[in-house]
Amino acid sequence: MAKIDPARYGVNTLAVRAGRQPTAEGEHSEPLFLTSSYVFKDAAQAAARFAEDEPGNIYSRFTNSTVRVFEERLAAMEQAERCIATASGMGAILSACLGLLQSGDHIVSSRSVFGTTVNLFNKVLRKFSIATSYVSLSDYDAWAAAITDKTRLLYLETPSNPLTEIADIQRLADLARRRSCLLVVDNCFCTPALQQPLLLGADIVIHSATKYLDGQGRCIGGAVLGREELLGENVYHILKYGGPTMSPFNAWVFLKGLETLGLRMTAHSRSAAQIADWLNGRAGIAKVYYPGLADHPQHELAQRQQQDFGGIVSFVVNGGKDAAWRLIDNTELFSITANLGDSKSTITHPATTTHNRLTDEEKQKSGIAPGLVRLSIGHEDVADLKDDLETALTATSKN
Ligand SMILES: *Cc1c(COP(=O)(O)O)cnc(C)c1O
Repeated sequence: MAKIDPARYGVNTLAVRAGRQPTAEGEHSEPLFLTSSYVFKDAAQAAARFAEDEPGNIYSRFTNSTVRVFEERLAAMEQAERCIATASGMGAILSACLGLLQSGDHIVSSRSVFGTTVNLFNKVLRKFSIATSYVSLSDYDAWAAAITDKTRLLYLETPSNPLTEIADIQRLADLARRRSCLLVVDNCFCTPALQQPLLLGADIVIHSATKYLDGQGRCIGGAVLGREELLGENVYHILKYGGPTMSPFNAWVFLKGLETLGLRMTAHSRSAAQIADWLNGRAGIAKVYYPGLADHPQHELAQRQQQDFGGIVSFVVNGGKDAAWRLIDNTELFSITANLGDSKSTITHPATTTHNRLTDEEKQKSGIAPGLVRLSIGHEDVADLKDDLETALTATSKN
Protein backbone atom coordinates (compact mmCIF):
# COMPACT_ATOMS: atom_id res chain seq x y z
CA MET A 1 0.00 0.00 0.00
CA ALA A 2 1.30 3.43 -0.91
CA LYS A 3 2.30 5.60 2.01
CA ILE A 4 -0.08 8.51 2.66
CA ASP A 5 1.42 11.96 2.01
CA PRO A 6 0.41 14.11 5.04
CA ALA A 7 0.68 17.33 3.01
CA ARG A 8 -1.99 16.12 0.58
CA TYR A 9 -4.82 15.30 2.97
CA GLY A 10 -6.92 16.89 5.69
CA VAL A 11 -6.50 15.94 9.32
CA ASN A 12 -9.63 13.74 9.37
CA THR A 13 -8.48 11.68 6.39
CA LEU A 14 -5.09 11.25 8.04
CA ALA A 15 -6.78 10.25 11.32
CA VAL A 16 -8.39 7.29 9.56
CA ARG A 17 -5.80 6.37 6.93
CA ALA A 18 -2.26 7.43 7.88
CA GLY A 19 0.22 4.83 9.09
CA ARG A 20 -1.77 1.78 7.97
CA GLN A 21 0.48 -1.14 7.10
CA PRO A 22 -1.70 -4.18 6.36
CA THR A 23 0.00 -7.56 6.80
CA ALA A 24 -0.23 -10.50 4.39
CA GLU A 25 -3.54 -11.43 6.09
CA GLY A 26 -5.24 -8.50 4.36
CA GLU A 27 -6.94 -7.25 7.55
CA HIS A 28 -8.84 -3.95 7.31
CA SER A 29 -8.58 -2.78 10.93
CA GLU A 30 -5.09 -2.25 12.36
CA PRO A 31 -3.72 -5.40 14.02
CA LEU A 32 -2.59 -5.48 17.65
CA PHE A 33 0.95 -6.87 17.98
CA LEU A 34 1.17 -7.95 21.61
CA THR A 35 4.73 -9.15 21.49
CA SER A 36 7.64 -8.17 23.67
CA SER A 37 10.31 -9.30 21.21
CA TYR A 38 10.81 -10.16 17.54
CA VAL A 39 12.60 -13.14 16.00
CA PHE A 40 15.28 -13.11 13.30
CA LYS A 41 15.62 -15.46 10.36
CA ASP A 42 19.21 -16.27 11.30
CA ALA A 43 22.10 -15.17 13.50
CA ALA A 44 23.43 -12.87 10.80
CA GLN A 45 20.14 -10.98 10.65
CA ALA A 46 20.13 -10.61 14.45
CA ALA A 47 23.65 -9.18 14.28
CA ALA A 48 22.69 -6.80 11.46
CA ARG A 49 19.66 -5.51 13.39
CA PHE A 50 21.68 -4.94 16.56
CA ALA A 51 24.42 -3.20 14.58
CA GLU A 52 21.70 -1.03 13.01
CA ASP A 53 22.94 -2.10 9.56
CA GLU A 54 19.44 -3.39 8.80
CA PRO A 55 16.23 -1.63 9.87
CA GLY A 56 13.60 -3.71 11.67
CA ASN A 57 12.12 -4.66 15.01
CA ILE A 58 14.16 -6.13 17.85
CA TYR A 59 12.29 -5.59 21.08
CA SER A 60 9.13 -3.63 21.97
CA ARG A 61 10.94 -1.22 24.29
CA PHE A 62 12.71 0.01 21.10
CA THR A 63 9.95 -0.35 18.50
CA ASN A 64 6.64 -2.18 18.19
CA SER A 65 4.58 -2.54 15.03
CA THR A 66 1.28 -1.30 16.54
CA VAL A 67 2.96 1.58 18.37
CA ARG A 68 4.63 2.56 15.10
CA VAL A 69 1.27 2.84 13.30
CA PHE A 70 0.02 5.14 16.10
CA GLU A 71 3.21 7.22 15.85
CA GLU A 72 2.95 7.59 12.07
CA ARG A 73 -0.72 8.50 12.24
CA LEU A 74 -0.34 11.15 14.96
CA ALA A 75 2.80 12.52 13.22
CA ALA A 76 0.80 12.94 10.01
CA MET A 77 -2.02 14.69 11.89
CA GLU A 78 0.38 17.14 13.59
CA GLN A 79 2.40 17.57 10.35
CA ALA A 80 5.48 16.36 12.27
CA GLU A 81 8.51 14.57 10.84
CA ARG A 82 8.64 12.29 13.83
CA CYS A 83 6.43 11.11 16.70
CA ILE A 84 7.69 9.20 19.73
CA ALA A 85 4.93 7.49 21.71
CA THR A 86 5.39 7.29 25.48
CA ALA A 87 3.84 5.51 28.46
CA SER A 88 2.00 8.66 29.64
CA GLY A 89 1.76 12.39 29.02
CA MET A 90 4.23 12.95 31.86
CA GLY A 91 6.52 10.35 30.26
CA ALA A 92 6.40 12.48 27.10
CA ILE A 93 7.36 15.69 28.95
CA LEU A 94 10.10 13.90 30.93
CA SER A 95 11.51 12.27 27.76
CA ALA A 96 11.50 15.58 25.87
CA CYS A 97 13.27 17.37 28.76
CA LEU A 98 15.84 14.63 29.39
CA GLY A 99 16.47 14.30 25.67
CA LEU A 100 16.83 17.99 24.86
CA LEU A 101 18.31 19.50 28.03
CA GLN A 102 21.46 19.12 30.05
CA SER A 103 22.47 20.10 33.52
CA GLY A 104 22.68 23.90 33.85
CA ASP A 105 20.00 24.58 31.24
CA HIS A 106 16.99 26.78 32.00
CA ILE A 107 13.28 26.51 31.11
CA VAL A 108 10.84 29.42 30.86
CA SER A 109 7.35 28.04 31.40
CA SER A 110 3.85 29.42 31.46
CA ARG A 111 2.58 29.53 35.04
CA SER A 112 -0.70 27.99 33.84
CA VAL A 113 0.45 24.47 33.02
CA PHE A 114 -0.70 21.07 34.26
CA GLY A 115 0.12 20.79 38.00
CA THR A 116 2.24 17.65 37.66
CA THR A 117 4.33 19.39 34.98
CA VAL A 118 5.22 22.08 37.56
CA ASN A 119 6.15 19.32 40.03
CA LEU A 120 8.30 17.62 37.38
CA PHE A 121 10.14 20.89 36.70
CA ASN A 122 10.48 21.97 40.34
CA LYS A 123 11.03 18.66 42.12
CA VAL A 124 12.68 16.35 39.57
CA LEU A 125 14.52 18.40 36.92
CA ARG A 126 15.77 20.80 39.59
CA LYS A 127 17.73 17.91 41.18
CA PHE A 128 19.72 17.76 37.94
CA SER A 129 20.39 21.54 38.00
CA ILE A 130 17.77 22.40 35.43
CA ALA A 131 15.96 25.51 36.71
CA THR A 132 12.55 26.79 35.64
CA SER A 133 11.15 30.36 35.69
CA TYR A 134 7.41 30.97 35.39
CA VAL A 135 5.62 33.74 33.49
CA SER A 136 2.03 34.69 32.65
CA LEU A 137 0.92 32.89 29.50
CA SER A 138 -0.05 35.96 27.46
CA ASP A 139 2.48 38.49 28.87
CA TYR A 140 4.93 38.53 25.92
CA ASP A 141 7.28 41.04 27.57
CA ALA A 142 7.55 38.73 30.58
CA TRP A 143 8.53 35.79 28.31
CA ALA A 144 11.21 37.89 26.62
CA ALA A 145 12.52 39.22 29.95
CA ALA A 146 12.73 35.76 31.54
CA ILE A 147 14.99 34.30 28.82
CA THR A 148 18.68 34.08 29.79
CA ASP A 149 21.66 32.73 27.87
CA LYS A 150 21.01 29.39 29.61
CA THR A 151 17.38 29.17 28.44
CA ARG A 152 16.81 26.28 26.08
CA LEU A 153 13.02 25.64 26.26
CA LEU A 154 9.90 27.83 26.29
CA TYR A 155 7.02 25.69 27.54
CA LEU A 156 3.25 26.30 27.41
CA GLU A 157 -0.30 24.96 27.07
CA THR A 158 -2.97 26.86 25.13
CA PRO A 159 -5.84 27.21 25.95
CA SER A 160 -4.75 27.24 29.60
CA ASN A 161 -6.35 25.10 32.28
CA PRO A 162 -8.81 26.03 33.80
CA LEU A 163 -9.16 29.68 32.67
CA THR A 164 -8.91 29.05 28.89
CA GLU A 165 -6.37 31.83 28.34
CA ILE A 166 -4.87 31.71 24.82
CA ALA A 167 -1.19 32.17 23.85
CA ASP A 168 -0.23 33.46 20.42
CA ILE A 169 1.88 30.46 19.33
CA GLN A 170 3.31 32.22 16.27
CA ARG A 171 4.48 35.19 18.32
CA LEU A 172 6.17 32.99 20.93
CA ALA A 173 7.70 30.83 18.17
CA ASP A 174 9.28 33.99 16.69
CA LEU A 175 10.63 34.92 20.11
CA ALA A 176 12.01 31.41 20.62
CA ARG A 177 13.76 31.47 17.25
CA ARG A 178 15.26 34.94 17.86
CA ARG A 179 16.64 33.86 21.23
CA SER A 180 17.79 30.37 20.10
CA CYS A 181 15.31 28.48 22.28
CA LEU A 182 12.88 25.70 21.39
CA LEU A 183 9.15 26.31 21.76
CA VAL A 184 7.32 23.34 23.32
CA VAL A 185 3.49 23.29 23.17
CA ASP A 186 1.42 20.78 25.15
CA ASN A 187 -1.48 20.41 22.68
CA CYS A 188 -3.65 18.29 24.98
CA PHE A 189 -6.69 20.62 25.09
CA CYS A 190 -7.05 21.22 21.34
CA THR A 191 -5.50 18.10 19.77
CA PRO A 192 -4.41 18.27 16.10
CA ALA A 193 -8.09 18.25 15.13
CA LEU A 194 -8.36 21.87 16.37
CA GLN A 195 -4.79 23.22 16.41
CA GLN A 196 -1.47 22.28 14.78
CA PRO A 197 1.27 24.13 16.71
CA LEU A 198 4.14 22.92 14.47
CA LEU A 199 2.55 24.70 11.50
CA LEU A 200 2.51 27.88 13.63
CA GLY A 201 6.26 27.60 14.28
CA ALA A 202 6.47 25.52 17.48
CA ASP A 203 9.41 23.09 17.62
CA ILE A 204 7.93 20.35 19.80
CA VAL A 205 4.37 19.21 20.51
CA ILE A 206 3.52 17.18 23.62
CA HIS A 207 0.41 15.04 24.06
CA SER A 208 -1.27 13.30 26.93
CA ALA A 209 -3.04 10.67 24.81
CA THR A 210 -4.93 9.81 27.99
CA LYS A 211 -7.32 12.70 27.37
CA TYR A 212 -8.97 13.45 24.01
CA LEU A 213 -6.86 11.13 21.82
CA ASP A 214 -8.35 8.17 23.68
CA GLY A 215 -11.50 10.15 24.37
CA GLN A 216 -13.20 7.45 26.39
CA GLY A 217 -11.09 7.36 29.55
CA ARG A 218 -9.49 3.94 29.05
CA CYS A 219 -5.70 4.11 28.68
CA ILE A 220 -2.70 6.18 29.81
CA GLY A 221 -0.26 7.31 27.12
CA GLY A 222 1.56 10.25 25.59
CA ALA A 223 3.64 11.46 22.66
CA VAL A 224 6.45 13.85 21.69
CA LEU A 225 6.38 15.25 18.15
CA GLY A 226 8.76 17.41 16.13
CA ARG A 227 11.70 17.38 13.73
CA GLU A 228 13.70 14.18 13.27
CA GLU A 229 16.88 16.13 14.03
CA LEU A 230 15.57 16.99 17.54
CA LEU A 231 13.87 13.72 18.43
CA GLY A 232 15.63 10.98 16.45
CA GLU A 233 18.62 10.51 18.74
CA ASN A 234 18.04 12.61 21.82
CA VAL A 235 14.48 11.82 22.77
CA TYR A 236 14.28 8.34 21.25
CA HIS A 237 17.32 7.26 23.30
CA ILE A 238 15.50 8.18 26.52
CA LEU A 239 12.87 5.57 25.61
CA LYS A 240 15.28 2.98 24.32
CA TYR A 241 17.67 3.27 27.28
CA GLY A 242 15.28 4.62 29.94
CA GLY A 243 12.10 2.68 29.13
CA PRO A 244 8.98 4.96 29.25
CA THR A 245 7.60 3.25 26.14
CA MET A 246 3.91 3.05 25.14
CA SER A 247 2.29 -0.36 25.48
CA PRO A 248 1.09 -1.85 22.15
CA PHE A 249 -2.34 -2.47 23.63
CA ASN A 250 -2.70 1.21 24.55
CA ALA A 251 -1.40 2.26 21.12
CA TRP A 252 -4.13 0.15 19.52
CA VAL A 253 -6.83 1.79 21.67
CA PHE A 254 -5.46 5.27 20.83
CA LEU A 255 -5.40 4.40 17.10
CA LYS A 256 -9.13 3.70 17.27
CA GLY A 257 -9.54 6.94 19.25
CA LEU A 258 -7.77 8.96 16.57
CA GLU A 259 -10.20 7.72 13.90
CA THR A 260 -13.09 9.60 15.56
CA LEU A 261 -11.06 12.49 17.02
CA GLY A 262 -12.26 15.18 14.60
CA LEU A 263 -15.92 14.21 15.03
CA ARG A 264 -15.57 14.13 18.79
CA MET A 265 -13.74 17.47 19.06
CA THR A 266 -16.44 19.11 16.95
CA ALA A 267 -19.13 17.63 19.18
CA HIS A 268 -17.26 18.56 22.42
CA SER A 269 -16.87 22.13 21.09
CA ARG A 270 -20.49 22.47 19.99
CA SER A 271 -21.89 21.25 23.33
CA ALA A 272 -19.39 23.28 25.38
CA ALA A 273 -20.30 26.45 23.41
CA GLN A 274 -23.98 25.88 24.18
CA ILE A 275 -23.29 25.35 27.90
CA ALA A 276 -21.00 28.43 28.04
CA ASP A 277 -23.64 30.59 26.34
CA TRP A 278 -26.32 29.31 28.67
CA LEU A 279 -24.21 29.96 31.81
CA ASN A 280 -23.05 33.41 30.65
CA GLY A 281 -24.98 36.20 32.40
CA ARG A 282 -27.06 33.73 34.41
CA ALA A 283 -28.13 34.66 37.96
CA GLY A 284 -25.68 33.31 40.54
CA ILE A 285 -22.79 33.12 38.05
CA ALA A 286 -20.14 35.84 38.32
CA LYS A 287 -18.04 34.93 35.27
CA VAL A 288 -17.75 32.35 32.48
CA TYR A 289 -14.46 31.39 30.80
CA TYR A 290 -14.76 29.97 27.27
CA PRO A 291 -12.73 31.10 24.21
CA GLY A 292 -15.83 30.82 22.01
CA LEU A 293 -17.64 33.60 23.90
CA ALA A 294 -17.47 36.93 22.06
CA ASP A 295 -16.46 38.64 25.35
CA HIS A 296 -13.48 36.30 25.93
CA PRO A 297 -10.44 38.66 25.88
CA GLN A 298 -8.66 36.55 23.22
CA HIS A 299 -11.69 35.40 21.27
CA GLU A 300 -10.23 36.65 17.98
CA LEU A 301 -6.85 35.02 18.54
CA ALA A 302 -8.61 31.73 19.38
CA GLN A 303 -10.65 32.05 16.20
CA ARG A 304 -7.52 32.61 14.13
CA GLN A 305 -5.36 29.95 15.76
CA GLN A 306 -7.87 27.15 16.43
CA GLN A 307 -10.43 25.40 14.24
CA ASP A 308 -12.90 25.39 17.13
CA PHE A 309 -12.99 26.33 20.82
CA GLY A 310 -12.78 22.95 22.57
CA GLY A 311 -14.66 21.18 25.33
CA ILE A 312 -13.53 22.95 28.52
CA VAL A 313 -15.75 25.59 30.18
CA SER A 314 -15.01 27.21 33.54
CA PHE A 315 -17.16 29.56 35.59
CA VAL A 316 -17.25 31.33 38.95
CA VAL A 317 -20.32 30.77 41.07
CA ASN A 318 -21.30 33.45 43.61
CA GLY A 319 -20.75 32.36 47.22
CA GLY A 320 -17.15 31.13 47.06
CA LYS A 321 -15.92 27.65 47.91
CA ASP A 322 -19.04 26.55 49.82
CA ALA A 323 -21.28 27.40 46.88
CA ALA A 324 -18.92 25.71 44.41
CA TRP A 325 -18.84 22.53 46.51
CA ARG A 326 -22.65 22.55 46.92
CA LEU A 327 -23.07 22.98 43.18
CA ILE A 328 -20.68 20.11 42.44
CA ASP A 329 -22.32 17.83 45.01
CA ASN A 330 -25.79 18.60 43.67
CA THR A 331 -25.06 17.52 40.09
CA GLU A 332 -26.11 14.01 39.15
CA LEU A 333 -24.79 13.47 35.62
CA PHE A 334 -21.40 15.16 35.93
CA SER A 335 -18.62 12.90 37.25
CA ILE A 336 -16.67 14.48 40.11
CA THR A 337 -13.11 13.89 38.88
CA ALA A 338 -10.11 15.93 37.85
CA ASN A 339 -9.87 14.07 34.53
CA LEU A 340 -10.99 15.61 31.25
CA GLY A 341 -11.43 14.77 27.58
CA ASP A 342 -13.84 11.88 28.18
CA SER A 343 -17.23 11.17 26.61
CA LYS A 344 -18.54 11.52 30.18
CA SER A 345 -18.80 15.15 31.35
CA THR A 346 -16.72 15.94 34.42
CA ILE A 347 -16.83 18.65 37.08
CA THR A 348 -13.86 19.86 39.15
CA HIS A 349 -13.14 22.41 41.90
CA PRO A 350 -9.64 23.60 40.85
CA ALA A 351 -8.86 25.57 44.05
CA THR A 352 -8.99 22.43 46.25
CA THR A 353 -7.83 19.80 43.75
CA THR A 354 -5.72 20.49 40.63
CA HIS A 355 -4.48 23.85 41.98
CA ASN A 356 -4.40 23.08 45.75
CA ARG A 357 -0.59 23.41 45.84
CA LEU A 358 -0.89 27.19 45.23
CA THR A 359 -0.96 29.55 48.23
CA ASP A 360 -4.08 31.73 48.62
CA GLU A 361 -2.09 34.67 47.24
CA GLU A 362 -0.92 32.68 44.19
CA LYS A 363 -4.48 31.49 43.57
CA GLN A 364 -5.72 35.06 43.64
CA LYS A 365 -2.93 36.17 41.30
CA SER A 366 -3.66 33.42 38.80
CA GLY A 367 -7.46 33.77 38.92
CA ILE A 368 -8.19 30.47 40.69
CA ALA A 369 -11.14 31.93 42.63
CA PRO A 370 -12.72 29.93 45.49
CA GLY A 371 -15.97 29.80 43.50
CA LEU A 372 -14.32 28.59 40.27
CA VAL A 373 -15.73 25.37 38.77
CA ARG A 374 -14.31 23.59 35.69
CA LEU A 375 -16.42 21.50 33.34
CA SER A 376 -15.14 19.11 30.69
CA ILE A 377 -18.13 18.69 28.41
CA GLY A 378 -18.70 15.15 27.10
CA HIS A 379 -21.21 13.62 24.73
CA GLU A 380 -24.40 13.49 26.82
CA ASP A 381 -27.42 15.42 25.48
CA VAL A 382 -26.81 19.12 26.10
CA ALA A 383 -30.39 19.53 27.37
CA ASP A 384 -29.71 16.93 30.08
CA LEU A 385 -26.46 18.63 31.10
CA LYS A 386 -28.23 22.00 31.33
CA ASP A 387 -31.05 20.45 33.42
CA ASP A 388 -28.47 18.93 35.74
CA LEU A 389 -26.63 22.25 36.17
CA GLU A 390 -29.93 24.11 36.59
CA THR A 391 -31.03 21.79 39.42
CA ALA A 392 -27.62 22.08 41.08
CA LEU A 393 -27.59 25.90 40.74
CA THR A 394 -31.06 26.16 42.28
CA ALA A 395 -30.04 23.92 45.20
CA THR A 396 -26.91 26.05 45.65
CA SER A 397 -28.70 29.38 45.77
CA LYS A 398 -31.28 28.09 48.29
CA ASN A 399 -28.66 27.53 51.02
C1 LIG B 1 -3.17 15.01 31.91
C2 LIG B 1 -2.23 15.99 31.35
C3 LIG B 1 -0.85 15.72 31.28
C4 LIG B 1 -0.24 14.45 31.83
O1 LIG B 1 -0.66 13.33 31.13
P1 LIG B 1 -0.73 11.85 31.77
O2 LIG B 1 -1.13 11.02 30.61
O3 LIG B 1 -1.72 11.90 32.88
O4 LIG B 1 0.63 11.53 32.27
C5 LIG B 1 -0.03 16.66 30.70
N1 LIG B 1 -0.53 17.83 30.22
C6 LIG B 1 -1.84 18.13 30.28
C7 LIG B 1 -2.33 19.42 29.75
C8 LIG B 1 -2.74 17.23 30.84
O5 LIG B 1 -4.04 17.54 30.92
